[in-house]
Amino acid sequence: MSDIAALVRELDAADPLRGFRDEFLVPPHGGGEQRYFVGNSLGLQPRGARAHVLEVLDKWAAEAVEGHFSGDTAWMEYHRLVREPLARLVGARPDEVVAMNTLTVNLHLMLASFYRPDARRPVVLMEAGAFPSDRHAVESQIRLHGLDPAECLVEVEADESNGTLSDQAIADAIAAHGPRLALVLWPGIQYRTGQAFDLARIAALAHAQGARVGFDLAHAVGNLPLALHDAGADFAVWCHYKYVNSGPGAVAGCFVHERHGNANLPRMAGWWGHEASTRFRMAPEFVPAVGAEGWQLSNPPVLAMAPLRASLEQFERAGGMAALRAKSERLTGLLERLIHERLADTLQVVTPAEPQRRGCQLSLRVAGGRGRGRALFEHLRERGFLGDWREPDVIRIAPVPLYNRYADVLELVEEVERWRAG
Ligand SMILES: *Cc1c(COP(=O)(O)O)cnc(C)c1O
Repeated sequence: MSDIAALVRELDAADPLRGFRDEFLVPPHGGGEQRYFVGNSLGLQPRGARAHVLEVLDKWAAEAVEGHFSGDTAWMEYHRLVREPLARLVGARPDEVVAMNTLTVNLHLMLASFYRPDARRPVVLMEAGAFPSDRHAVESQIRLHGLDPAECLVEVEADESNGTLSDQAIADAIAAHGPRLALVLWPGIQYRTGQAFDLARIAALAHAQGARVGFDLAHAVGNLPLALHDAGADFAVWCHYKYVNSGPGAVAGCFVHERHGNANLPRMAGWWGHEASTRFRMAPEFVPAVGAEGWQLSNPPVLAMAPLRASLEQFERAGGMAALRAKSERLTGLLERLIHERLADTLQVVTPAEPQRRGCQLSLRVAGGRGRGRALFEHLRERGFLGDWREPDVIRIAPVPLYNRYADVLELVEEVERWRAG
């Protein structure tokens, strides 16, 4: 056995998280299992999810409307079952977070409250090449205020050769637009490049200019340790179907900083955001609940929320993001090292090399252009190695510490070598 194969076996054998892989359903391939590197798109199904969904179906069958009120999973308060573990996952206080809706819906709700442009401060600043849904949300909100996106949407262009952004470029952009900035909307991790950002620094820079700051954590939650409260973000939104493994279309997350939790900010209101003890008086006036829960619209989609309980419970048992991140850095570091040592003529790593500037994902540009890149991507898929493709020429590979093994990473590299040898 080669040195590297022996090393990889040792790493897997010594991995304190190795047991978690068996808690997931890995799609089959050939006689075995896929090598699944697409947890950044849809996380694998935890075996525990099914029991939580069935529990809801059984409760509905047995109790119907009484299910709202009975037992320790009463649907009235179902969103509260995930509140504390969710707060720990993102580094927040329990009443700063809520699971509700989906990501883009939550982004709109937060923009309605936190993007309050006036003639002096009409600008939203975001990264160029943002996920289209985020851009659509921002642009449409600018238009809702009767403003022109051509003037009010500022997109910060990448200044580094890989298409990534230096801290200086972000600071310069915030400073340049400072007096006109209403809001900075920034990703925790950029979905295409895999670049991670220093959120506390961005929040401080935006606040120093008198702007509000919100984060889209779609690719950061469940991937990086987060400290939203201390970072001082005004709001944050994220989804739970990527690294949080809660299934397609899973109920999303939302954070509103404590300092806004009692402030009765303008919002798009619904009855579930009404203060709980008087909600069922059914009075016409809206009295918001304290904290992020005050932005809820509807009673919780309990069936869709059930898998999130199973997922968060796994993150807790794994020891939280600190333990996962320790493995994640090693796992992604191994992939990067093997690419540099063995595939430098074939794959260029777009994602920053410094671990603090990335999560688990590496974005890889295939030498030879789009056609060759697609050919490699299809070859890998046929052999059971699943990454994903982002136009025009990037394969994204996300080794996930909860269920990927060091051996998966080595086998992926060996498969690319076989393809290269033709
Ligand atoms: C995945 C992702 C989305 C998807 O939005 P949904 O509302 O969940 O469909 C939006 N924005 C970013 C940055 C994403 O990574």
